[in-house]
Amino acid sequence: MKYYIIFGPPGAGKGTHAVAIREKYNLCHLSTGELLRAEIAAGTELGLHAKALIDNGNLVPDSVVEKMIAKKFDEVKGVEGFLLDGFPRTLGQAEDLDKLLGERGESVTAVVSLMIPDSMVHERIRHRAAIEGRADDASDEIIENRIKTYHSQTEPLIDFYSKQGKYHEVDATGSTIEENRARVLALMEKIEA
Ligand code: AMP
Repeated sequence: MKYYIIFGPPGAGKGTHAVAIREKYNLCHLSTGELLRAEIAAGTELGLHAKALIDNGNLVPDSVVEKMIAKKFDEVKGVEGFLLDGFPRTLGQAEDLDKLLGERGESVTAVVSLMIPDSMVHERIRHRAAIEGRADDASDEIIENRIKTYHSQTEPLIDFYSKQGKYHEVDATGSTIEENRARVLALMEKIEA
């Protein structure tokens, strides 16, 4: 099985490009953000606990997302691998993912990182807010908090996966989705070759 991670700051286009990668390579796209929003929509206990953290742009505890991911690894069949989107987001999650995969005789295949500068994060999220109406896209203050969280908690993963020789970066600042998608798919082809 392949285990790809699509990585990058909020608004970089992870969810958008994940769809194209999923289809081309027959992968299961697992977005922890989407899984959490589904729990909130369904009114589960987990969703109730997670909502305030998410709506304020803070991370939910590692154990919460790790359990959701492990469950999906057990349940999902008929794919050639997984495309993890928004997970791992902390060093602890990355280490636990290595352990979880190691127990299955598997490992992370590669990290595809979409890079955009902070100034573009605001612009992209403002655009998305108008379309999707997510509570955590609604204010500049919350977006700023998510950017801060990304730099302090998630960015260290670049070094973690670089040391494993698994980190690959794409310049995702192209002006159209199509242009950025072509860059992402070109990188995927190189990795798969
Ligand atoms: P996303 O859809 O990936 O932007 O995620 C939306 C929100 O869900 C994040 O701002 C976090 O509050 C929460 N979340 C998603 N994935 C994770 C994760 N791996 N670890 C902790 N919190 C997460």
